[in-house]
Amino acid sequence: MLHFEITLLLILIFLIVYPILLSFLSGAKRVLFEPKLTDKEIYKKVKEEKRKLGLNSQNIKVEIYNGRSSECERESENQYVVRIADNFRGRRPATIKHEMYHVYRDKGEKDSTLKRLFIQEPRANLYDIFNICL
Ligand SMILES: [Zn+2]
Repeated sequence: MLHFEITLLLILIFLIVYPILLSFLSGAKRVLFEPKLTDKEIYKKVKEEKRKLGLNSQNIKVEIYNGRSSECERESENQYVVRIADNFRGRRPATIKHEMYHVYRDKGEKDSTLKRLFIQEPRANLYDIFNICL
């Protein structure tokens, strides 16, 4: 019986911490193992991800801005803007992959906080870390 309760507790803990774990892993991968990209390399990476994710019919604007974190937004049908934070964490290949995955999978929509925290962000992190498309 005790084993069952411990297992249940571990599952519960995992369900609470996996978004944090994935976000941490993603940040560590970017900062420790990836090169810092120049503007030109950022535009090139966006093009590459656009092709990989089959987003060729979408018009995606790229802005490198002085924000704290990168984000993407749908402006209208087939029109997106991806904003890459001009800082040590933003200028990395995984950041571009992450935001482009939000365009591909979430259509740039920001849903409720819970859905974002437990589904959209971990899913985008899985893609930017391991190339896993869910
Ligand atoms: Zn995200």
